[in-house]
Amino acid sequence: MKEKIYETFSPGQTHALGKKIGEDAAAGMVCTLTGDLGAGKTVFTQGVAEGLGIKEPVSSPTFTIVQIYEEGRMPFYHFDVYRIADIAEMDEIGYEDYFYGNGLCMIEWAGLIAELLPKHRCDIRIEKNPEKGSDYRKITIRESGEAGDVS
Ligand code: ADP
Ligand code: MG
Repeated sequence: MKEKIYETFSPGQTHALGKKIGEDAAAGMVCTLTGDLGAGKTVFTQGVAEGLGIKEPVSSPTFTIVQIYEEGRMPFYHFDVYRIADIAEMDEIGYEDYFYGNGLCMIEWAGLIAELLPKHRCDIRIEKNPEKGSDYRKITIRESGEAGDVS
């Protein structure tokens, strides 16, 4: 297990960190993305997309479980499983093709599908700290976490 902690002090810095992750991403990587509303998950994800070379705007996949972007150097699969009622819905969309495919998966609310997550993955957590100002974020990136670690 490898864990790195970053601190950002503006949306731009969080975007830049995401961009670096996108630039460095290996095909088949699965990342979970955790953080409260307004933490910066979308800002981070937009950076990742840019790092992959995706030009089209990336937002939260509100009405679909997975949003697919094919124009970058590898496919980008942006999951938001918040609205999933039954884990069988993941089978219906054929999640294994994405989780064990050749793209980069970014999964929001991954704790809801913990049993489906590959053990080899990267868990990204974004946290605020009011004592450090409204623009402060702590971003923890942990590689190869065990399923069940995400909340
Ligand atoms: P989420 O997708 O987690 O709900 P968003 O990315 O949509 O959050 O929103 C994050 C909000 O916080 C944006 O309005 C952004 O401008 C602001 N913000 C302030 N400081 C930061 C920072 N260091 N990193 C990311 N976002 C920040
Ligand atoms: Mg969001």
